[in-house]
Amino acid sequence: MPTLAEVAAEAANCTRCRLAEGRKNVVFGMGNPEAHLMFVGEGPGAEEDRQGLPFVGRSGQLLDRLMRQELGLTREHCYICNVVRCRPPGNRDPLPDEIEACSPFLESTIEIVSPRVVMTLGNFATRRLLGTSEGISRLRGRSYPFRNAQLVPTYHPAAALRGGGEIVAEMRADFVRAKLLLADGSS
Ligand code: URA
Repeated sequence: MPTLAEVAAEAANCTRCRLAEGRKNVVFGMGNPEAHLMFVGEGPGAEEDRQGLPFVGRSGQLLDRLMRQELGLTREHCYICNVVRCRPPGNRDPLPDEIEACSPFLESTIEIVSPRVVMTLGNFATRRLLGTSEGISRLRGRSYPFRNAQLVPTYHPAAALRGGGEIVAEMRADFVRAKLLLADGSS
């Protein structure tokens, strides 16, 4: 199996889809390659594109806060990546062929990190990994067996920034679900 660094080096030169044209940086992912917990978001925004790192804007600040408050973890303990690794222009949704083109990178990331718990953030990551077209508000609230792991769907932090306290409360409950699953596997 290749290392994450090797796959990231391949992604750095990727031109498999049109998102390559407008990017400043490929945002491959960050964190601990041996993490037990992986977060999968949608795609980089402007700040992520500028820095080459995932979730470094306002959504990322909320993600960091929930990680710290509900799991007692920082992003160095986890691995964070996105369904697409290049910024969709104007922050539009990633298109099906872009998601498909980026799929080998997502698959390799999951296989190499081999997390025990995957938290999907929002519709795109959840639908892609669970292979469903159902919406996040119906899918969240439970965990799903996912390969050798458990998958815990939750809202995208950007939805919480827009939607307020109720969404954040539901996200907190999802983080607690992930924490219990991580603790389950620790013995
Ligand atoms: N939103 C995402 O889905 N991913 C990021 O990396 C940043 C914002």
